[in-house]
Amino acid sequence: MKKDNQKINLVRDMLIMIGDNPERNGLKDTPQRVVKMWSEVFRGYNKKNKPVVTTFENNSDGIMYDQMIVDSGYFFSYCEHHMVPFFGKYYFAYIPDKKIIGLSKVARMVDYFSARLQIQERLVKDVVDELEKILQPKGIALVIQARHLCKEMRGVIKYNGEMTTSDLRGAFRKNESIRMEFMNYIRN
Ligand code: ZN
Repeated sequence: MKKDNQKINLVRDMLIMIGDNPERNGLKDTPQRVVKMWSEVFRGYNKKNKPVVTTFENNSDGIMYDQMIVDSGYFFSYCEHHMVPFFGKYYFAYIPDKKIIGLSKVARMVDYFSARLQIQERLVKDVVDELEKILQPKGIALVIQARHLCKEMRGVIKYNGEMTTSDLRGAFRKNESIRMEFMNYIRN
């Protein structure tokens, strides 16, 4: 682990590298701020931040959930090829078997795996792997739609459009009507 001063000097060097002057007024505290911010936005490298997911027994309240449970939310991550953000929306669904989770845990899991250098394909897989292991559901699915600043900011011709990645398993892969139900939810 590098000392804070060393980290700050690295960011100063980066400022020089891009052609600016770290001594000018506006940039004086920037290296320090960047170091602090990186420790926040890259919190996903610290295993201590991994959410602890408790599950509930399905049918423990006399109701057997065997329908699709769907959730969606937003996320921010960093492209590992260019170290700039990609961000967007995720759509999660599962069909429970014996276990149920609170949906806030899904948001936390997405957040944890987003808060590091990522590619969109792996982000989807990381989250689904983890939740599948915990839930052992009949089916599980995650679709992510994201804007990538590394594509949008470069060059004169601005690229617009979202990239979509998905990971569909179990019933979502085998059963077309279940898959369609989920996809319709995403479109609306
Ligand atoms: Zn990129």
